[in-house]
Amino acid sequence: MVSLLRKDLSVRMAPKVYKNLIGGEWVETRSKRTHENTNPADTRDVIGVFPHSDASDVEAAVAAAKKAFESWRLVPAPKRADVLFRAARIMEERKEQYAKDMTREMGKVLKETRGDVQEAIDTLYFMAGEGRRLYGFTTPSELPNKAAMAVRMPVGVCGMITPWNFPMAIPSWKLLPAIVCGNTCVIKPAEDTPLSTLNLVQSLIEAGLPKGVINIVFGSGKDVGTPIVQHPDVRAISFTGSSEVGRLIGTMAAEQYKPCSLEMGGKNAIIVLDDANIDLTVDGVLWGAFGTTGQRCTATSRVIATKKVYEQLADKVAARAKKLKIGSGLDESVDVGPQINRSQVETTETYVGIGKKEGAKVLIGGNRLAAGGYKHGFFYEPTVFVGVKNNMRIAQEEIFGPVVSMIQADSLEQAIDYSNSVVYGLSTAIYTKDINKAYRAMRDLYAGITYVNAPTIGAEAHLPFGGVKATGNGHREGGWEVYEFYSETKVCYVDYSGRLQRAQMDTYDV
Ligand code: ADP
Repeated sequence: MVSLLRKDLSVRMAPKVYKNLIGGEWVETRSKRTHENTNPADTRDVIGVFPHSDASDVEAAVAAAKKAFESWRLVPAPKRADVLFRAARIMEERKEQYAKDMTREMGKVLKETRGDVQEAIDTLYFMAGEGRRLYGFTTPSELPNKAAMAVRMPVGVCGMITPWNFPMAIPSWKLLPAIVCGNTCVIKPAEDTPLSTLNLVQSLIEAGLPKGVINIVFGSGKDVGTPIVQHPDVRAISFTGSSEVGRLIGTMAAEQYKPCSLEMGGKNAIIVLDDANIDLTVDGVLWGAFGTTGQRCTATSRVIATKKVYEQLADKVAARAKKLKIGSGLDESVDVGPQINRSQVETTETYVGIGKKEGAKVLIGGNRLAAGGYKHGFFYEPTVFVGVKNNMRIAQEEIFGPVVSMIQADSLEQAIDYSNSVVYGLSTAIYTKDINKAYRAMRDLYAGITYVNAPTIGAEAHLPFGGVKATGNGHREGGWEVYEFYSETKVCYVDYSGRLQRAQMDTYDV
């Protein structure tokens, strides 16, 4: 009776109301509009009410970031980095709570959200170390008594637009290198997962981040994202999301000559050769295809297997997929959580329909789960298609759901051709015991990442992350390359000769 009462009360308890972070203050949106952040495993569970902001909030956030830039850029980089070190320690203490918040708003299972928080912690430590590097370059001048060097200069106010599938790790990949380089930021997290970005930034604030260095404006892509991209005082844009939206953002940024880093879709394949260790491969396919309910840009969406191994592999994957427990990610015994929202689960349904029409066969799965305990969430069964031809849409287009298409290939060369045939180029993998074939795959797979004897997912914070073709536009996140994006190269010449020296002329006259 008592517990029932308590349950009723908790259902009726008003959800927490969150605000934008502008200039170090939590402020209401000027639009007066809000939206609910709900649990995709049970939409009756409201995590909070978040602002549905508009361009006037962006205006205020950019002004605050611009003001903060004037002092933040002058803070010595090792001092800026100290904030990151302290935030990392705070995050370590809160890891469990932040993981639970993330599972509630995003759906993926707890062991994965713990990994997402850990990735932000790893990124904090890695980027903090950079505060004592941020190396430049010196070289002799062609003229006597003259010095020449290239140093790093912050870009200014950076705008970030992030997706829902790694709601803490992805914002950390963008915010942390930006602030260590001396920039200030305005970030718009995905509407479905605003709390995890807020948690990350809250740790930075408690670690001593000065007001205005990071500003958060919650809301939709059109009402908040676009005004950030178009604001003339925002000097660089970093986006992760779909290739369709990335194209729009890249085009808008180009109109104002803004550097723009785009991290977009994928249609990643695991190649399996006849000599592969099958049980190891099955583990990899299951994790790659159904981890994060298939909602990773690096998810294994295709398995391209050679003839001898194809059927055996399909049967083993199906047998194991059948045993996966589907449910709320807050239940530690669950393997596969819900999809993020109605639209995403409907996309999966549509693609499974397309696959069947194209003539592929559903070996396992193929259904949305909407009865009983699944009634209030967005659940879809792990699904394996066999008999998939490389030209089918399910073999070519990104689905972003728990669906894997198995394609047969005659040879390593054909498998590589198939893998390269999609418009995307993010992650690839090969399972083989033949070192020569592994090296050929590493050389010939046209993608940003290739794994050998491991699935297509599993990026580490200190290595560059990104892809080619419709996946990216030449930039990388993480690793040592990201600092190139968040700093401009400034060349400084110091002439201590006390006379006018003319490059290209005077050297040759003496
Ligand atoms: P996903 O399928 O992962 O949701 P999207 O590309 O739709 O990918 O969204 C990624 C991010 O881009 C989200 O934060 C979203 O709000 C934002 N976004 C969507 N449309 C636009 C737009 N027209 N301009 C700016 N940002 C956008």
